[in-house]
Amino acid sequence: KQRNPNEYEFHQAVKEIFESLVPAFAKHPKYMENGILERISEPERVISFSVPWVDDEGKVRVNRGFRVQFNSAIGPYKGGLRFHPSVNASIVKFLGFEQIFKNSLTGLPIGGGKGGADFDPKGKSDGEVMRFTQSFMTELSKHIGSDIDVPAGDIGVGAREIGYMFGQYKKIQKGYEAGILTGKGIGYGGSLTRTEATGYGTVYFVEEMLKDKGLSFNGSTVVVSGSGNVSIYAMEKAAQLGATLVACSDSNGYIYDKNGINVETVRRLKEVERKRISAYVDEHPDAQYHEGCSDIWLTPCDIALPCATQNEIDVEAAKVLVANSVKAVGEGANMPSTLQAIEVFQNNGVLFGPAKAVNAGGVAVSALEMAQNSMRLSWSFEEVDSKLKEIMTTIYRNSVEAAENYGHPDNLVVGANIAGFLKVADAMLEQGVI
Ligand code: NDP
Repeated sequence: KQRNPNEYEFHQAVKEIFESLVPAFAKHPKYMENGILERISEPERVISFSVPWVDDEGKVRVNRGFRVQFNSAIGPYKGGLRFHPSVNASIVKFLGFEQIFKNSLTGLPIGGGKGGADFDPKGKSDGEVMRFTQSFMTELSKHIGSDIDVPAGDIGVGAREIGYMFGQYKKIQKGYEAGILTGKGIGYGGSLTRTEATGYGTVYFVEEMLKDKGLSFNGSTVVVSGSGNVSIYAMEKAAQLGATLVACSDSNGYIYDKNGINVETVRRLKEVERKRISAYVDEHPDAQYHEGCSDIWLTPCDIALPCATQNEIDVEAAKVLVANSVKAVGEGANMPSTLQAIEVFQNNGVLFGPAKAVNAGGVAVSALEMAQNSMRLSWSFEEVDSKLKEIMTTIYRNSVEAAENYGHPDNLVVGANIAGFLKVADAMLEQGVI
């Protein structure tokens, strides 16, 4: 804390991981030695830069951009870019730190990184978003490469922003380097299933978790927070598996539809028309809109999938979910539950899937996009989807196994953290102090 003052989210992420690694240190003291903990929690490189751009009124604006290249023990840095006014060094470092273990869990050769800017795309014209992202990439391009660091999307960075960044990179660098970013459009090197991957992967993981206890999505009532990329495709897959989606949200409020949310309406409103979630009730008059997004957790459900942002489920929300008999919580977003909220779930027998395992499907398919770019080939939707499902099942099994082996059966927080950590720590030990 003295070394990184005021970086609360980063402290929270490090505390969660280090505490759950204690059983691994007890069994293998070598991980406590050799400076592994000090090295793994110190980013290899932090880049902070100004992003000047001109708005539609001709006024010059300046935002702050970041790229944290956290750990490259098992592969090039890999992780998304977030454009949101809350972005700061602490947020980018917590996300980059988590990404190390998540990427390791996928079983694919990717290191951990993350980036973004305190730019708010909401309410900006297409031209403003383009000029901002071009300025952002002008600096970022000096630090990335298909074997160095491969960014992707995150909150506020979707297909449109990735397209503008790719165009700018191509213009200022020599040659056509498809593997420089992932989440690209299908026509220029993107992978089928990448758009759906994090949401589908979230549901595939939770499906495995439920199956182990004789439960399933079929016939369950599900609440999914957010209405962005992760949320939309988690809802789509859960509905395909027979669940009834009753509530979803954006940062202003949430909708409740007792008949089951029409996911296609949400997708069109958010992805195509870029409207607020409140517009849903204009088309579905039986549904209700409630101002205030955090109250979404008052909605009774069997399965809760927080897919919006960090710390959206606090201890109070967790207690309400438990009182309403929630059976499973799967974190589609990064660190959506506070540490105290996780304790409430675990102490009350709720099946709990932690973010770095549950939402790893997005980065896994990003790594498959890199593989396709290297081969100059593209795989079918079904092929990528079946690889995604296999990866999510393996992540689940490995997390369960590590939890058992290290004396915490059923604790997937411990299992996922230890499974992700061991591979990176071993690679760091083998590569020496560098
Ligand atoms: P999007 O920008 O597509 O959607 C984010 C959604 O969450 C929107 O509905 C947004 O509402 C809402 N939201 C954002 N910030 C807040 C906030 N402070 N309070 C309440 N609601 C908020 O992002 P993604 O769906 O891509 O990302 C969602 C989460 O999933 C993030 O935690 C991200 O890090 C994580 N994630 C994403 C991956 C991906 O592949 N996209 C991969 C792995 C993790 P509004 O529109 O009002 O801003």
